[in-house]
Amino acid sequence: MDLYQVLGVPRNAAPADVERAYLRLARRYHPGINPGDGVSAELYRRVQDAYAVLGDTERRRDYDRGGASAPVATAETNVAFQGFDFSSLAEGASAATFSELFADVFQDAARRVSSPEQGTSVDITLQLSFDDAIRGGQFPLSVTRSERCGACAGTGQVARPPIACPQCVGAGSMRWARGHMVFTKACDTCNGVGQIVTQSCRMCGSTGVHGRSEVVTLGLPPGIETGARISVPGRGHAGARGGPAGDLYVTIDVVPHPFLQREGRDLRMQLPVAIHEAALGARINVPTLDGAVALRIPAGSTSGQRLRLRGRGIPGDPSGELPAGDLIAELQIVLPPVRDERSKELLKEFGRLNDIDVRRHLFGNA
Ligand SMILES: [Zn+2]
Ligand SMILES: [Zn+2]
Repeated sequence: MDLYQVLGVPRNAAPADVERAYLRLARRYHPGINPGDGVSAELYRRVQDAYAVLGDTERRRDYDRGGASAPVATAETNVAFQGFDFSSLAEGASAATFSELFADVFQDAARRVSSPEQGTSVDITLQLSFDDAIRGGQFPLSVTRSERCGACAGTGQVARPPIACPQCVGAGSMRWARGHMVFTKACDTCNGVGQIVTQSCRMCGSTGVHGRSEVVTLGLPPGIETGARISVPGRGHAGARGGPAGDLYVTIDVVPHPFLQREGRDLRMQLPVAIHEAALGARINVPTLDGAVALRIPAGSTSGQRLRLRGRGIPGDPSGELPAGDLIAELQIVLPPVRDERSKELLKEFGRLNDIDVRRHLFGNA
């Protein structure tokens, strides 16, 4: 049997790939994992033999040359995994082999169980009126988040009068066999102490957290826009096993204004003016965020012309870093309904007196 095929690697595989393939197969067919499975035991033996050659630079070179491919003594391998006490790792070659094979697996499992974890974030959307968004200010919002239980400080356990551990009967350690491996390790139930000194926290059902609604006040700068995302550190869900809380994220959604549009720090609006106001000039009232403001329409104004009201846009930043924006009014000439004969006569007369082709620019100079 080709040793490269046994490990499932190409003949030019790098030493690291050979080792990876070996570890993967050795774990799968390990006799300790597959007790009494003859096929696995045989595959495991072949994997060991193949790696004994391909995992050794000199022997691999010999093998590639077609030289010595005699497998190592297999008896040694089989004996190696009989009777191994996990609590004492320094028990000769067998212990080393086993711990090497599975060390990272056990470490990962241990990390998953015991390490504190940061809580997850809380995401909410805050809908703001157009005016509120423009002005900014303090906005209280109700947030439901899980919070660390005060009764047990987030551990889920509270102290109780000590009793002997029922799991290990006070010994503090557990011993069990799997296949032909023997494990001992600290008792999970009492963490190796032999006594039970805590009990589940009744306040939180031993989860270490409870749901709580609280009011978080959000300070918003003037001129915040839809889609802005504000983070409030530590106001998300409580962390597991005493880990830090997650963050609170608030996404802003601004309700559109009926006639004002934002353009950076400026506001823009379409401002209807009657035909005579545009032609003759007028003083009209314009609605702004601070109420109506008088605006002079120059005589001879036309549709599309823009008039700027300084400082009537987004208010300035209180720090003075950002100046106030402007309100830009775009004129829109509106013709009132012409129903009476007198008005029609006047407009005909006006047309005769101002006989200019207003579309001449569309036809060039010809
Ligand atoms: Zn609790
Ligand atoms: Zn115990």
